[in-house]
Amino acid sequence: MRFEHETLPQRVHFAAGEARAAIRSEVARLAGSRVMVIAAPAEADLAKSVAADVPVVVHHDDVVMHVPVETAQRARRAADDHGVDVLLCVGGGSTTGLAKAVALTTGLPIVAVPTTYAGSEATGVWGLTQDGAKTTGVDPRVLPRAIIYDAALTLSLPVPLSVASGLNALAHCVDSMWAPHTDPLDQALALEGIRALAAGLPDVVADPAGLAGRERLLYGAYLSALAFSSAGSGLHHKICHVLGGRYDVPHAQTHAVVLPYVLAFNSPAVPDVEHRIADAFAADSALDGLQRLRRAVDAPTALRDHGLPEYAVEDAVPAILEAAPADNPRPVTGAAVRRLLRAAWEGSDPAVTGK
Ligand code: NAD
Repeated sequence: MRFEHETLPQRVHFAAGEARAAIRSEVARLAGSRVMVIAAPAEADLAKSVAADVPVVVHHDDVVMHVPVETAQRARRAADDHGVDVLLCVGGGSTTGLAKAVALTTGLPIVAVPTTYAGSEATGVWGLTQDGAKTTGVDPRVLPRAIIYDAALTLSLPVPLSVASGLNALAHCVDSMWAPHTDPLDQALALEGIRALAAGLPDVVADPAGLAGRERLLYGAYLSALAFSSAGSGLHHKICHVLGGRYDVPHAQTHAVVLPYVLAFNSPAVPDVEHRIADAFAADSALDGLQRLRRAVDAPTALRDHGLPEYAVEDAVPAILEAAPADNPRPVTGAAVRRLLRAAWEGSDPAVTGK
C-alpha cells in the first residue's frame, strides 16, 4: 500500500438534543462575541432556539440553493456591517454553502449545525453560481471549525427529502470508491458510510419521528463527506454538478436519481470495488443492493419529475465530457453520457448504461 491522506482539522459533536449546549461551548472556544446566524426562513425558528445562549448580532435568512454570487455578496455585506466574528449556520447544504461563501472572503470561522444529510459541513469545498455556471473550489478557510450533529434537528425533515438527502450522502460514498484521489482510508470510510446509510434510510421511512434512523443517517453523512472530501469528485458528482448549475434542478433529488446509472456504468470496469460495495449492501451485486434499497424507501426515479428539461439530455453532454475525470474507470464518451442522461431523465432501467 502506498498513499497520502490528509485528515482535516475539525471538532465534531454528536449528541441528539444537545445542539444548544454544544453551540454555546463552540462559540466560547472561538471567543465569539458577535455571531451571525445563517439559516433559511424554514429553519429560522429552529436556529433562534439553538442559538439562544450565544451573542447574536444578526440573523440572516437570505439563503438560495447553489449560492448565487449576489446572495453571497449580500451575506458578506451583512457580516461586515455588523462586525461579525463567528458564523453559525443551521440548515442544509445551501445554508452551509452560504456560510462558506462568507468565510471564503472574510476568513471568519464557521460553526456548522447541519439539518440535512448533504455533508457540506465536513468538506473544504465551496461553490458559487453565476449565469448558470457553478464554480467550486477548495479552500481551508471555508472548512467549518466545528460541526454539531444533533439528530433531533433533522426530525422535521420530511421523509421524501430525508430519503433524497440520505441518497445524496450514499452517492458521496459510492463515487469516492473510484474518484481521482481515492485511497484506502477514503474507501474504508465510504464502505462504513454505505452500511450506515443503507440501515438508516429504511429506519427513517419506517419511523420518521424516531432518532435511531436519523442518527445513522447523520453518522453515514459525516463518513460520506470525509470520504468525498479526500477522494474528490468522480463522474457522478461531475454529472450532478453540471445538471445543478445549468438547469437549477434540486441537488439531493438529482444525486438520488443519477447514482444507479453511474454505478451501472462504472462497476463492470472495477470488479473489486463492485464486490466491496455489494458486500456493504449485503447484496449479490452493488446495483442490486442499491436498487433494493431505493425501492424500499421509494426513492426518486426520473430527472424529468424534478424539473430537468428534455433538451438537457443533449445540451449537457459537452459540459459533462469536459468535466469528466480523465481516469474514470470506464472511458466517458458522448454516446455513453447521452445514453446515461436519457435513461436517468426517463427513469428507465439503469442496467442499460452498463452495456
Ligand atoms: P438545502 O440546503 O437546499 O435544503 C433543502 C430544503 O430542505 C430547503 O428547503 C430547506 O429549507 C429544507 N430543510 C433543511 N433542513 C430541514 C429540516 N431539518 N426540516 C425541514 N426542512 C429542512 O439542500 P441540501 O441537499 O441539504 O444541500 C444542497 C446544497 O449543498 C447544494 O447547493 C450543494 O451543491 C451543496 N453541497 C455542497 C457540498 C460541499 O462539500 N461543498 C456537499 C454537499 C452539498
